[in-house]
Amino acid sequence: MSSSQLDLAELDLPELEAALEARGVERFHARQLYRWVYRRGVTQFDLMTDLSRPLRARLQDELLVSTPRIISDETSVDGTRKFVLELVDGRRIESVYIPDTPSMTFCISTQVGCAMSCGFCLTGKMGLVRNLTAGEIAGQVRLLAAATGLLDFPFNIVLMGMGEPLHNYEHTMKALRMLHSEHGLAVSPRRVTLSTVGIVPGLERLAREPLMPNLAISLHATTEEQRTALVPPNRKYSLAAILDACRRFPLKNRSRITFEYVMLDGVNDTPEDARRLVKLLAGIKAKVNLIPLNPAPGIPYDRPSDERVDRFAQILADRHITVSVRKSRGRDIRAACGQLIVEGGSKKTAAQQMALLMR
Ligand code: SAH
Repeated sequence: MSSSQLDLAELDLPELEAALEARGVERFHARQLYRWVYRRGVTQFDLMTDLSRPLRARLQDELLVSTPRIISDETSVDGTRKFVLELVDGRRIESVYIPDTPSMTFCISTQVGCAMSCGFCLTGKMGLVRNLTAGEIAGQVRLLAAATGLLDFPFNIVLMGMGEPLHNYEHTMKALRMLHSEHGLAVSPRRVTLSTVGIVPGLERLAREPLMPNLAISLHATTEEQRTALVPPNRKYSLAAILDACRRFPLKNRSRITFEYVMLDGVNDTPEDARRLVKLLAGIKAKVNLIPLNPAPGIPYDRPSDERVDRFAQILADRHITVSVRKSRGRDIRAACGQLIVEGGSKKTAAQQMALLMR
């Protein structure tokens, strides 16, 4: 790759059109390129047969389409597939394909590691290594859609992999614009869910976005004190401030905000917590997604019994709050929520990584 090569993977369609025009290439070729790269998963210019040979040769010299490399692809007994992807700088991330939920879903990362350091999440233990670029975020979808044979089928995207999307706002939103292009995968924002710990300025910005994904807030606690203990960013963006931002958040007719609630045995799963949660959500078009903890070595919490989860869910349901319990998928291949962790390019085995975490 020469340094003057332009990386098509990082460009939204208007940027690609402008870049081609600046090189004296007609703008309409941008749409053809987008169709090859996104709809057909083709990144080699010499295979793009509706372009003239001289143009293909020229693009080959001047452009590239950097794409994460699949390092491993493991399938769980429940059909969930975890992909470990290597980026151009050798850093690694994980992306997960979850079939039949009832639709097909890709769980995508927005950062290498994460700065939020939630007490129950393995990714949080890595710290933040770096933001992903827009091309790396959209690239995961391109790659997974091709690998799972879903390029021509509808699928959902959840930004619930590694990282905090509102901590990498620009790149995340640009990736959604790229994926939305009608000449690319044409992903409707209604099929995208952005999950966040609740970075309030980010929520306020999101409220003004023309392309607005569904919103999920990782709440996890019902008092300021307890939330700060579990989700450290709460020190800066309090439960009260987040819920205020949610009350102001513009929702389309039928849509609601999802509140995710990781259940930790004996910590935040009591009937009092459930009743406090009902009060907190008053006046918000909300639904609650309970996520029984996926335990992991180095995480100092346990998963509650099904009875405790059911009792909590029943209290919400009795007060007319829509509640669901997230089924844990892909735990046998460590692909479940909070279990995504990789060390960039390191040769350590998973067992060694766990041992490091436990020190
Ligand atoms: N940073 C974003 C998105 C990534 S996490 C966020 O926090 O929302 C996606 C969901 O998985 C979050 O609700 C997160 O709290 C949850 N999660 C993290 N660790 C978990 C664990 N060990 N067990 C179950 N869910 C977990």
